[in-house]
Amino acid sequence: MSDYHLNEGVAVITLDHPPVNALALALRTRLGAALHAALRDVSVRAIVLAGAGRGFCGGGDITEFDLPAVCQEPTPATLFSLIENSPKPVVAALHGMALGGGLELALACHARVAEARTQVGLPEVHLGLVPGAGGTQRLPRLVGFELALNLIVQGRTQPAQSLRDSGLFDRLTDGSPVEAAVEVAMALAGELAVPNAADGMLRRTGALTPRLANAQAFFAFARATVQSRFRGLPAPVACVDCVEKAATLPFHEGLAFEHDCFTRLRGTAEFAGLRHAFLAERRAADIRGLPDGIKPRPVKTVAVIGAGTMGGGIAMSLANAGLAVTLIEREQEALDRGLAIIRQTCESALRKGRLTAEEAAGRLDLIKGCVGYDPVRQADLVIEAVFEDLEVKRQVFEQIDAVARAGTVLATNTSMLDLDRIAGFTRRPQDVLGLHFFSPAHVMKLLEVVRGAATAPDVLATAIALARRIGKTSVVSGVCEGFIGNRILQPYLYQAGRLLDEGALPHQVDQAIERWGMAMGPFRVSDLAGNDLGAGIRAQVMANRPELAFSGSFDAVVAMGRFGQKSGRGWYDYSASQRGPQPSMEVNAAVVAESGRLGLRRRTIADEEIIDRLLLALVNEGAKVLGDGIAQRASDIDVVYTAGYGFPRWRGGPMFAADRRGLADILGTMRRFAEAAPDPQDASFWQPAPLLRRLADRGRSFGTFVDSHLESEPS
Ligand code: NAD
Repeated sequence: MSDYHLNEGVAVITLDHPPVNALALALRTRLGAALHAALRDVSVRAIVLAGAGRGFCGGGDITEFDLPAVCQEPTPATLFSLIENSPKPVVAALHGMALGGGLELALACHARVAEARTQVGLPEVHLGLVPGAGGTQRLPRLVGFELALNLIVQGRTQPAQSLRDSGLFDRLTDGSPVEAAVEVAMALAGELAVPNAADGMLRRTGALTPRLANAQAFFAFARATVQSRFRGLPAPVACVDCVEKAATLPFHEGLAFEHDCFTRLRGTAEFAGLRHAFLAERRAADIRGLPDGIKPRPVKTVAVIGAGTMGGGIAMSLANAGLAVTLIEREQEALDRGLAIIRQTCESALRKGRLTAEEAAGRLDLIKGCVGYDPVRQADLVIEAVFEDLEVKRQVFEQIDAVARAGTVLATNTSMLDLDRIAGFTRRPQDVLGLHFFSPAHVMKLLEVVRGAATAPDVLATAIALARRIGKTSVVSGVCEGFIGNRILQPYLYQAGRLLDEGALPHQVDQAIERWGMAMGPFRVSDLAGNDLGAGIRAQVMANRPELAFSGSFDAVVAMGRFGQKSGRGWYDYSASQRGPQPSMEVNAAVVAESGRLGLRRRTIADEEIIDRLLLALVNEGAKVLGDGIAQRASDIDVVYTAGYGFPRWRGGPMFAADRRGLADILGTMRRFAEAAPDPQDASFWQPAPLLRRLADRGRSFGTFVDSHLESEPS
């Protein structure tokens, strides 16, 4: 909807299409009608475009991007050209956000006024696209090539005030942007009204002449940088190509080139994956079974128990969002160590310019330390991050239960332990849930929220609200060993080990899956996390799931004292003089010896097989997690893997990648692996999950599976 009203000869047209005034066909149709009405109305001397609600405009409606609506008239390009060529001045009044198509709309206006905190940017590249409605042609004309290219290629979103001197805005205000825009519009109309005023007095962005010395060298450098940084992804390079056209082609030809790029990219697998990842993150916050209007409990102060790797990181991520935190330890020495690491992390962020001195001091001020449980009395939320040992967790939760107020939310950061047993250590299991952060907790985006059998709905709602407040992407998981992420990881690691037993070497496995897009291969990740920690987890997993008998190479590496990066030796050798991990002769010999011990004849394993075995191990366990109702929907599993496990976002996630390939193909490949398996245990590993088989038999995909009970699926 677009609201239209007249204010002393200025027509104020308000975009009104909740939640973010996305440029869906319905909104475009109304906007077009309102613009035409204002252009026809002789009493209208100028036009102001504003947004209702949270912001000006959040951009194109990506749910329409693969529907015919996307190219139906009036398209954004048609509207923007109507605005730019309007004989009456059109001024954009921005607040909240002007992103993507929303900023492109503003660029087509003759002037822009913004409330200073308005978030602006062209984030299309994060969806695998270029800005498709003139952004790459108009932005450089207003702010110059260097800034425009940076904003477009990085898809950065930033407050308007940080672009104060860029030429993007005609006025910034701390007051009402609409009032200021009406003033600007009247002034422009006044200038046009003087006798003999030329129509050319209006500043039309497309008519500006962009200047760039050494354009060829500038773009050659930009292209080379982008190609190496984005590992061959098509959109960032296309952004460079489009911006280059603003320097080398007339405006309308540049627009046509940009439109072609946009249309081509909309057909790529990268766009499909990135769009899925984007929509999946939003969907993940929709929790099944939460009553409408449920209110989160207020959280102002937090107690974090354990000042180790995770406790320190969790405290920082809370303080970064302005929450007061007390870190609790058993001994002063451990507390001092934890607080010192937090101080060093803040100092390093300050040195790198990521924090101002004031911000760093503010954050450190919010984090206090204490030996003893006294601060738990005042806390609204307690997060436990002590050793991964059920007996230690029992002692800690009994102490928390003894002192915490009624209604305090109690959370555990356990990676693998049974949340319901932990909740049972208290007299208030309804207040207990899992908040599974990932390391380093102040950096990693993912927060797995574990819902126990007794967790109260408002406790769950509190966790979701907290996640949003501290800038994390939350996914709800049911209770099982390892929850969604670590449970699915175990078969993946099992296969990585079996690949070594059958003939691959660690660096070959890592390189194959990294070339496919994973941020790090399984052995590099193990070295980072600590192979000794992995040993404890594997022992626990094997006790409960004997079918996952991990390769003996894992234990051999630990037995050699190769604990990973922290000890300078793990699956790889690390040294200050050599960049990155170096394959180790000693480890390779141990891997070969393990094959001999198992009586396996080593063979050459193609990268393709490595990738498929690792990916299908994730997918099959993902299907079990989905079938068991541990994950609410397949896309939640995708979010866990893209936000927390380095899965390439542009592939959408393991379940989406499986759907793209087709579940029948996945089943066929698993059958081939089972037939070629060197022993019966490995063959039975490839037994498909019941849900995978049923969906494949019906020609369905994980994406269409909407409930944990097949009965309630749409047929
Ligand atoms: P850590 O060994 O680095 O830290 C644990 C801290 O807890 C230590 O400082 C210890 O002194 C303290 N502690 C132990 N008993 C205590 C008690 N009774 N009262 C107060 N403090 C006590 O361990 P971590 O890596 O931070 O792991 C903590 C928890 O987070 C574990 O449950 C682990 O499984 C989980 N986790 C770890 C990671 C990771 O990558 N390290 C990731 C996700 C979750």
